[in-house]
Amino acid sequence: MSDRPPDEPQGDDFDGFDDPDEFSDVPLDEHESQLVEQDLTDLADFEAAFRPEGYRGVAVWCQDCAEEHYYPWDMLRENLTLLLDTGETPVHEPAFAPEPSRYVPWDYARGYVDALRDSGVGDRIAVDACTQCGLTLPEEFRSANFCPRCGVALVMERLRAALDKAGLGEDAIAEVLRATGFATR
Ligand SMILES: [Zn+2]
Ligand SMILES: [Zn+2]
Repeated sequence: MSDRPPDEPQGDDFDGFDDPDEFSDVPLDEHESQLVEQDLTDLADFEAAFRPEGYRGVAVWCQDCAEEHYYPWDMLRENLTLLLDTGETPVHEPAFAPEPSRYVPWDYARGYVDALRDSGVGDRIAVDACTQCGLTLPEEFRSANFCPRCGVALVMERLRAALDKAGLGEDAIAEVLRATGFATR
């Protein structure tokens, strides 16, 4: 919420957005464009991670207004796209009567998504089924550590698949699993 008229030129102030030039509604230079493109990429990552959890958008600290602004996903994407295309600075009119708890703080989202990337979840071999209880694993559990039904560690199945992929034969795989204490049969 700003007490200034909405059409007054605004400074850049999305702290954490690194966004561009103070007073211009002129096209961005190459460096500025890259920063905004990065913001758009980040936003897409955040949305993928947090929208399924019920979050409606992001909270961004605004230095100009000295308060948090709440942006629904689509609104911020449109703002950033406009900024990229025309150099027009994003509006300071955030969501109407937002519920703050449903907006994830930008910096928090950044750290969360980075941590997720570091943990290598996306690099794991997907496990289709639990060999312990026979459950066909739902999509969202294929990278999980444990079977959601019987609780057995899925890491053994993943290791088995990885060894297979690495070209070890059936016998060698069984050997390794036994030697590492995974195999029980
Ligand atoms: Zn503001
Ligand atoms: Zn199971």
